[in-house]
Amino acid sequence: MESAVKYIIDFLLNGNTQLSSHVGYTANAAEFATYSVVIAPSGFFDSGTYGTAATEPQLPLKELDGTPILFGAPEITRKGDTIVIQADIVASTFFLLARYEEFIHPADNRDAHGRYMGKNSLPCRANFINRPIVDEYSNLLLKCLSDAGCTVSFPPAAYKNIYLTHDVDFLTNYRHLRGFLGGIKRNILSISGLRRVVKSVFKLENDTAYTFPWILEQDSKVIGAQSVFFLKSAVAQASSDYPNYNLKGKDFKNLVQLLKVNKCQFGLHSSYYSANHLEYIELEKQKLEQCLGMTITANRWHFLRTLQPSDYKELLSAGITDDFTLGYADVAGFRLGTSRAVRWINPENLEVTDLTLHPLTAMDCTFSNQEYMNLTENEAFEKIIELLNQIKKHNGEVVLLWHNTVFSKIDGGYHKSLYTNIIKELAK
Ligand SMILES: [Zn+2]
Repeated sequence: MESAVKYIIDFLLNGNTQLSSHVGYTANAAEFATYSVVIAPSGFFDSGTYGTAATEPQLPLKELDGTPILFGAPEITRKGDTIVIQADIVASTFFLLARYEEFIHPADNRDAHGRYMGKNSLPCRANFINRPIVDEYSNLLLKCLSDAGCTVSFPPAAYKNIYLTHDVDFLTNYRHLRGFLGGIKRNILSISGLRRVVKSVFKLENDTAYTFPWILEQDSKVIGAQSVFFLKSAVAQASSDYPNYNLKGKDFKNLVQLLKVNKCQFGLHSSYYSANHLEYIELEKQKLEQCLGMTITANRWHFLRTLQPSDYKELLSAGITDDFTLGYADVAGFRLGTSRAVRWINPENLEVTDLTLHPLTAMDCTFSNQEYMNLTENEAFEKIIELLNQIKKHNGEVVLLWHNTVFSKIDGGYHKSLYTNIIKELAK
């Protein structure tokens, strides 16, 4: 537990780790004078309490300076020269970063894909999904340290990193037998539809899913952004993993060449199947590495299908160092309570691991899908701007997920236009 608490305090210090020894997490008043700021523990981590229903935050949440706190009292007091934060911002941070809510509810609040649903999660029920409140705790702690006379540097209001990511679920729509026959069948009454299907057979760039040149053109407008493509390499699959694309085929090689020339990064898009058969992650990673001729260290699950927090152990043992899965499919916002990259803390044993989690800011279908947020293009754009402003304010990371298939005029809805506007905003 000690190392998890130390890691959380350092994370909250957001670049001011030289002040680590100035912050205490203790209820022992005799020790207070040793520190500039003390955070009062609420008992969350006590044995006999941790992991039980007693650790569920009670709604409505109390607020300290307008920020919801999950545990402790919404007060700041003084003892001598020491400032005491009575809100347990260490346990509140841990609760969000470690997905503790999902950990103590391993079977509740799941959708048809076994995913924890955002709409009934604590951040939604307590109405703070749009705010990275862990980053607000950071500011609170830094202000207290400053008030106690410490020299503090507040993070700049700027994006720390921008990841423009794209999951390649479909490489092409029509350039394989099943897709071609399906395309013919669906377009049997449409001359232009039939022409589109046939044209794609003759030229890769004519296929409606092969929007990669356009994506690269857009992404390149954001100076300093990194384009990341997550590629599928399922070894065994569930029906939701189809269609496969041939990792040894010409079309795939063409794409990889294009992405390499454009200095894109590659990640594993681990299969739907692998989320319940975790031993497959390593096999999929090996298969992809062989085909690309490079080491892969980034992951995102297909369908954002991370089922239990402890599944992340398997990513670590497969050699993954960075995961980009953590957003809710059904609602955009800060699933981890932070906009910053953070090490995964295993809620089973409070171990701080070497796996870095990059919070997913927004995914295309979350906004447009009728069962998810069901927003118009304007509403979606406004929501995204709201999230981006929060990220910028806290010097966090932007992680966007727009699939290559949604940029087709035929079946992409408003996403081509929406993405163009998001890129314009980020390029400012
Ligand atoms: Zn996918």
